[in-house]
Amino acid sequence: MSKDIATPKRTQEILKKYGFSFKKSLGQNFLIDPNVLHNIVSHAKLTKESAAIEIGPGIGALTEHLARNAGQVVAFEIDQRLLPVLEDTLSPYDNVEIVHSDVLKANVAEVMQDKLAGFKDVMVVANLPYYVTTPILIKLLMEKLPIRGMVVMMQKEVADRITASPSTKAYGSLSIAIQYYMKAEIAMTVPKTVFIPQPNVDSAVIKLTRHETAPVNVLDEDFLFTVSRSSFAQRRKTILNNLQSQLPHGKEKKDLILAALEGANIDPARRGETLTIQEFGKLADLLLPDFK
Ligand code: SAM
Repeated sequence: MSKDIATPKRTQEILKKYGFSFKKSLGQNFLIDPNVLHNIVSHAKLTKESAAIEIGPGIGALTEHLARNAGQVVAFEIDQRLLPVLEDTLSPYDNVEIVHSDVLKANVAEVMQDKLAGFKDVMVVANLPYYVTTPILIKLLMEKLPIRGMVVMMQKEVADRITASPSTKAYGSLSIAIQYYMKAEIAMTVPKTVFIPQPNVDSAVIKLTRHETAPVNVLDEDFLFTVSRSSFAQRRKTILNNLQSQLPHGKEKKDLILAALEGANIDPARRGETLTIQEFGKLADLLLPDFK
């Protein structure tokens, strides 16, 4: 087995060899701790029958751990300067393919069909670029890719919001948007010291697992998210006030909103943050005919 990329010494050597300078605008904070990488990969429960999709391989720190544990790895990297570096650092592995692309613009489903055909078990595993964590997660989830789940590192504050339960400070429309698609839990928190350069914020790894049965079935997913976003528009306001001010012509249609709340058995004086995803689902279905 070749020596790990993710040691402080080897990482410095690689960066020096290629004269690489970090781009803060691309969220480039590279992992330099093999133990953290080992833990991330073990949460993904990969076997040689699994495939892994990575977003942002950097110089390949996580990629090589994935290559050792999975049958095939596909990694999307936006920064062209990293392509020759990755070709070099990942040369010991013949089961890795780098796709030079902004993952937000990539057709991930097509790449999966092309490069991971035959793999029934696919996980997304990544140390995400923090400036686009939420758009990346939402994109991958809304595309309903045939994946088992994700193990992804992000800013701890975002991880807290994604995994939050009702009636907590961190609970909001992001919790609903992600938990609608997958079970979300924090796998571990990670100190700043395991990166170079060190980020300004604390980090956490979350594990997302596809639901066996959906937590709620709704008529229109987009509208569920519209209702939940509207309900959290001003956290201190009641759900009735928020819906009135956020839904189209909500002020004039107060009676219809009240009827929907009553139908869903939700007290109009409650705050959005107390509603479960099931309650949001029921409410969205009842509001749908009059507000979409
Ligand atoms: N995986 C490496 C590690 O753990 O050391 C690097 C992680 S670093 C936090 C994020 C990586 O994502 C960088 O390599 C960056 O260039 C890349 N990146 C940033 N935005 C991206 C995007 N929109 N699509 C694909 N890769 C992106």
